Amino acid sequence: MIVFLVIGGLGFIAGLLSYRALALVLRNRRTYLKHFYNKKRPVTEIHVEEVETDETFSKLKEYCRQNPSAMLMLEVKNWKKGETILDRYRQLKLLGNPIGLHVHLALEPELPRLSFKKQFKLIDNGKNVLEKELEVTIRDFTAGWWSFNEDTVIVLKKLGIERVHVYYIQSRQAEIIRQHGLIPVKVKRYLHDWSLK
Ligand SMILES: [Zn+2]
Repeated sequence: MIVFLVIGGLGFIAGLLSYRALALVLRNRRTYLKHFYNKKRPVTEIHVEEVETDETFSKLKEYCRQNPSAMLMLEVKNWKKGETILDRYRQLKLLGNPIGLHVHLALEPELPRLSFKKQFKLIDNGKNVLEKELEVTIRDFTAGWWSFNEDTVIVLKKLGIERVHVYYIQSRQAEIIRQHGLIPVKVKRYLHDWSLK
């Protein structure tokens, strides 16, 4: 008798769990489908953060040769060994892929972002370094972890950035960018250089 109760109970729980899993999948089916579909789209940008590693650098060069339209969002931070990185950025520039700026404005994705002043300093520095060292004009920007706020958009406008890249689900952020007269670029598929290893 007890055995039957236990089996019945387990069966009931399993049924409940699978029902819940099914309900979850059905509720989010559009997101899953979109995600699946986006995986087939071409990569439109690469967040370049680890070129000091030889293996990453050579894989990235190879990737650029095969995907000349993928934009290189080059990260600029307060480097200790900046020269190696800048030298490698110069080599990447020769491959001809379009170039934009990538800066992390929050220490962790969910932590509060930096003050207006600190954001200005970081983005201004990043833009200047790339423009001076690579002799390019920077008009595109992607924030680390896609994490930015209205202050960021104001800073970007002051610095002459025209296009702010957002992840495709960030409709609210795209609206803020538009309100400030800049262009939101919705990114559906992107890569990190370190994931090429
Ligand atoms: Zn990043």
